[in-house]
Amino acid sequence: MIEEVIGDFVQLKKSGSSYKGLSPFTNEKTPSFYVSPAKGIFKCFSSGKGGNAVTFLMEHEKLSYPEALRWLADKYNIEIEEEKPNEEEMQERSERESLLAVSSYAAKFFEEYMWNHEEGQAIGLSYFQERGFRDDIIKLFKLGFCPDGWTGFSDEAQKAGYELKWMKAAGLVKESKDKHFDFFKGRVMFPIRDISGRVIAFGGRTLKTDKKIAKYFNSPESALYIKSKVLYGIYEAKNSIVKKDRCYLVEGYTDVISMHQSGVDNVVASSGTSLTDDQVRLIKRYTQNITILYDGDPAGIRASFRGINLILAQGLNVKVVLFPDGDDPDSYAKKVSSEILQNYIEEEAKDFLEFKTSMLAEDAAGDPIKRAEMIREVVDSIAHIPDGIKRAVYIQECSRLLAIEEQVLLNETNKILRQENKKQAKRNEFRNEQRNDIPPPPPPPPLEEGPHQERKRKLETSALSQEKDLIRLLLTFGRHPIKVELHRLEDDEKETLDSSVAEYLLFELQDEQLELHDEVMRKIVVEYARFLQKGEFPPEKYFQHHESASIHTLCADLMAFPYELSGNWSERHQIYPETEDMNLAKATKDCVFRLKLRHVLVMIEELQIEIKSCAEEEKLFELIKEKQHLDAVKRDLSRYFGSAIV
Ligand code: ATP
Ligand code: MN
Repeated sequence: MIEEVIGDFVQLKKSGSSYKGLSPFTNEKTPSFYVSPAKGIFKCFSSGKGGNAVTFLMEHEKLSYPEALRWLADKYNIEIEEEKPNEEEMQERSERESLLAVSSYAAKFFEEYMWNHEEGQAIGLSYFQERGFRDDIIKLFKLGFCPDGWTGFSDEAQKAGYELKWMKAAGLVKESKDKHFDFFKGRVMFPIRDISGRVIAFGGRTLKTDKKIAKYFNSPESALYIKSKVLYGIYEAKNSIVKKDRCYLVEGYTDVISMHQSGVDNVVASSGTSLTDDQVRLIKRYTQNITILYDGDPAGIRASFRGINLILAQGLNVKVVLFPDGDDPDSYAKKVSSEILQNYIEEEAKDFLEFKTSMLAEDAAGDPIKRAEMIREVVDSIAHIPDGIKRAVYIQECSRLLAIEEQVLLNETNKILRQENKKQAKRNEFRNEQRNDIPPPPPPPPLEEGPHQERKRKLETSALSQEKDLIRLLLTFGRHPIKVELHRLEDDEKETLDSSVAEYLLFELQDEQLELHDEVMRKIVVEYARFLQKGEFPPEKYFQHHESASIHTLCADLMAFPYELSGNWSERHQIYPETEDMNLAKATKDCVFRLKLRHVLVMIEELQIEIKSCAEEEKLFELIKEKQHLDAVKRDLSRYFGSAIV
């Protein structure tokens, strides 16, 4: 199983009992990445990473735990029954789907229009090329162009079956005085993608130099696009962020693209908003290290200060690189070679503390009041760090840099923390008050009988007739010799073994731990097995004359309809002994497999019930793995019966 999962991302070659490939986590040239199907684990010797299929997906695809489980569930067609969405949720889901569909269509349309149509080539493509963007980079970011007519895009989209309603909801079409028009008309288009690469919004840059026209238009927020949670470039950058264990943060689309082109591909932009907590959280999934790359102008510096505190508050490490005044990462990347750019970023990167103190020291030179303010500024940042030890280290360092006694800084930090705590307490108090007004939630309704419970019960009831078949077969033909095929795993060879119907049946029951539901039948099986253990069969009609009333009554009932092999077995018995023998063997096998299948089906229903109510992630994965296994068994058994199951 694990080799299938990882095989979706890494080229694996069989090597002995395991698989081998190039590590997806490093840039190695000789393979040191191993997958062991037997153990269900992978090990990457060049990065030290290792784990099971789920940890692989979490590491490689940067999925959260539940996302990884869902991925597996999708791959193996395991249905994870979800709470039935209510109408509102259904509506929201279909709204998101409609928005996704129209956005994806629009992105393809803009791209195609730019590459293949005269207007697109002459205006859009040539603009990007003049900006110095290479074709491969233009394609990587799926840049495009929206025709300058009023409805060039929306007409085509409508022809292709997309509703105006959704184009409006996605902000691609605007309405004014009962007329609709393409919102991005005449603009070059930057599609914004989510972490899985789906287009969820657009930025559009005008090519006009008219100062009154906004340079960039952006899609409005929608059920699909929540600005504060999106980072431009995350899809293209995520793997590199992990590999380099660092994320560069820039301001805009063009910065991301130019940096990519210069070989710095672990870069994202908070485009259109100032950095938010959710955006930092998104980066945190991939790395603990962020470097802010901003303009060296006062606005850029202010923005970087805000960013620093946000990032620190989530326990991440933050460095800052300022570009020479007047340059942003885009313009600087264009001016210098990629080597110089990369060196600049590495050498100019300052830890936030050093950055802040040096920035502020310049400002406050010779002014005691300003100097006091500045110290408070720096201490404020330090107070954002959640980890006490890290905080202490920074205070030490700060004391050295600013030549101020550590104790003073410590007092100041604690003061800020106390104030924060008070604020927090107030907030909680307020929340609790709010909460007190709301009556406590009603107790959960009694566990309703869901579809799984019902199916499980039905399966168990119908199990009875199969168990009867087994007992009949046992009592009628128990002593009868059959040949049984054994599969030997070691050499993959089949071996036939002389056995008896009884031995085969009871061995399989025991081996598969198939417990019969009916108590009396279970007793028969146990007693029969005792004879076999002694190397004997029970005497003729032993069970029919059993001292236990429940046993002999049951036998009488069962024998009223003796077991019959299909295809007039008894009649053919005299004519073709070998064939009948095979027939009996098949009947025996069928009987066991049918029991097995039912057992598996019951277990699957039980698992579904458990999966549905499981709150622990660890446990949930165990359950899902178990279900994958059972599903595979079910598939095999169904195949045996030619899919005409149960
Ligand atoms: P120019 O060629 O004049 O430098 P530009 O396209 O590089 O134009 P800038 O004004 O330099 O744009 O801005 C840099 C980045 O900031 C852009 O890539 C864009 O992502 C972002 N940006 C600028 N203005 C806006 C805006 N109004 N909304 C969203 N993002 C913007
Ligand atoms: Mn620019």
